[in-house]
Amino acid sequence: IVTETIPNPFGVEQFTVAAKQSFAGDFTRVNQETRESSVLDVYEAKLVENAPLTFIKNVLVVTSRDIDPSNLTKVLSNLTLEISKKTYHEFYKEQEIAWKKRWEIADVQIDGSAEAQQGIRFNLFQLFSTYYGEDERLNIGPKGFTGEKYGGATYWDTEAYAVPLYLALSDEKVAKNLLKYRHNQLPQAQHNARQQGLKGALYPMVTFTGVECHNEWEITFEEIHRNGAMAYAIYNYSNYTGDETYLAHEGLEVLIEIARFWADRVHYSKRNDKYMIHGVTGPNEYENNINNNWYTNKLAAWVLTYTAESLAKYPRPDLIEGAETAHWSEIVDKMYYPEDEELGIFVQHDGYLDKDLTPVAQLDPKNLPLNQNWSWDRVLRSPYIKQADVLQGIYFFGNQFSLAEKQRNFDFYEPLTVHESSLSPSIHAILAAELGMEDKAVEMYERTARLDLDNYNNDTEDGLHITSMTGSWLSIVHGFAQMKTWDGQLSFAPFLPQAWTGYAFHINYRGRLLKISVGQEV
Ligand code: BGC
Repeated sequence: IVTETIPNPFGVEQFTVAAKQSFAGDFTRVNQETRESSVLDVYEAKLVENAPLTFIKNVLVVTSRDIDPSNLTKVLSNLTLEISKKTYHEFYKEQEIAWKKRWEIADVQIDGSAEAQQGIRFNLFQLFSTYYGEDERLNIGPKGFTGEKYGGATYWDTEAYAVPLYLALSDEKVAKNLLKYRHNQLPQAQHNARQQGLKGALYPMVTFTGVECHNEWEITFEEIHRNGAMAYAIYNYSNYTGDETYLAHEGLEVLIEIARFWADRVHYSKRNDKYMIHGVTGPNEYENNINNNWYTNKLAAWVLTYTAESLAKYPRPDLIEGAETAHWSEIVDKMYYPEDEELGIFVQHDGYLDKDLTPVAQLDPKNLPLNQNWSWDRVLRSPYIKQADVLQGIYFFGNQFSLAEKQRNFDFYEPLTVHESSLSPSIHAILAAELGMEDKAVEMYERTARLDLDNYNNDTEDGLHITSMTGSWLSIVHGFAQMKTWDGQLSFAPFLPQAWTGYAFHINYRGRLLKISVGQEV
């Protein structure tokens, strides 16, 4: 059967996909039918009690991404011949060996809770079935291949949630491929910035080709924090691996352009003698067109600082002059951050505290999930937070805040958070674990690890939440075990949830495979 992908309004080329089935075993074909979009084979056999019969079905799939379209059927015939030489058990063995290798590094063992164990294994299996980094043309769609929502596009999820996991669980090349994917798309990111009349590069919120492919203005034009996540992934890679060659070359080319975007996107408020960023959407998509989202301002200033620092180490006179970085440092010095001294918290954005701040726990549960029960207007006016926003920043820059600051912000924001993005619970699990809030950390871990198994957000029918499946791993490794790598120093401060008797996992760290086991004895 030869099919073609449907035309895509974003200029993605149409691919031809050819598939061939072959059958073997004890059954006899009695009918074959070809319909417009299917090829049907009917096989029959007489079953006798206790006499097993075998039915073998081989399916081969090739696409015009890899093979010249005029050659597809020939390649299929050759492959059919090749696979007919192998038995089912030989194929099975190959799979077993390949998966064993993956599990040897990636498995997280949890003792004492079958649910917690099942959740993380399910997630790692689904994640690695979607992406294992062999092909640098590929990225990770939020639904992988399990559902059509999000159309197979790439989101900031990759940089913010998947890169840390692949850094620790596979060859460094895999995370580097993910970074290169964005470097390859730098011209498209420059195009996106120009579309908004801005300098530098704006990486897309959603993309197939590097060009922004989202069709809602409040996301395309406003959810610009994603540009910071691209830069953060470069930092993450360099800091985790200790290898700064990528940073010095491709990395800086990307960083400079992202920094230029921010330097152009901020504006100077004379009245306040501050730089500000108006008209944005933060990670919390339950409010749009806000001013001075603390997370976005923080990330923008950090990009400017990190890029300037990296340039001081690896000068690129071919790309940039000193006057430009001097301007960046003025922006950083005068960046405005909404804060509330009385509450001792960073304010999600200007005006947030004026909302009706009734905690989620006081809502009648029949309202939840809000996005399936409330009008969009009501959601946007409400104080309810879809996913970590201020707390996402506190997680990214965890070495810049005291425990007391973390606690105050967590205590303030978590009760207002509905976690209706699957990306939300893991960040909360990590911070709760650091703050010693065991019950909360476990609750959030379970929510992230069993999101699809237990259909927490009543949306598993759209497909699995592939990119947020990394969250269960992040919750255990960054959360319960408190793995940190600030300034290239690896450290742990593990705790064991009371309901568990132990857990263990591996990480690849700078050429060494480490096993971390946490048990009950001190
Ligand atoms: C989240 C985004 C995320 C997207 C894809 C949305 O619901 O709010 O942050 O990038 O899903 O996972």
